Amino acid sequence: MKNSKRDMIRRAAALGSVSSFIAVLLLIIVYSKLTLDIGVVCPFKEIFNIECPGCGGTRMAISLLHLDFYQAFRYNPFILSTLPILAYVYCKQAYLYIRYNILIEWLDKFLVIYAILLLLFGIVRNIDMFSWLAPTKLT
Ligand SMILES: [Zn+2]
Repeated sequence: MKNSKRDMIRRAAALGSVSSFIAVLLLIIVYSKLTLDIGVVCPFKEIFNIECPGCGGTRMAISLLHLDFYQAFRYNPFILSTLPILAYVYCKQAYLYIRYNILIEWLDKFLVIYAILLLLFGIVRNIDMFSWLAPTKLT
């Protein structure tokens, strides 16, 4: 496998472009919520009146920007709790991809397990007994 410096730069540029696009998209969503009070409307919430696994994500991000960690936790405890793990996996994968052009061996299993846990969280937060997992605005 050829692994020249030029290839590494090309992979870094590709990964940087995709990451930047996602970051800008998230910034636009958070900025529009902060300045114009235009939030992302959740189709699950609108159509079925249930909380999806991502409900509260934008409000969680805004609370994090205000360093209000408890409020961020109340908006979306699953995503907030797993954010450090996701950041670690992302950074490790980005390094391995740029440096050696390889994927983490367990990346596919990790993503499947994460998706299953996220789905379970989405189901559980709609059960009355676990309603405290639904996005909650503290007063
Ligand atoms: Zn939702």
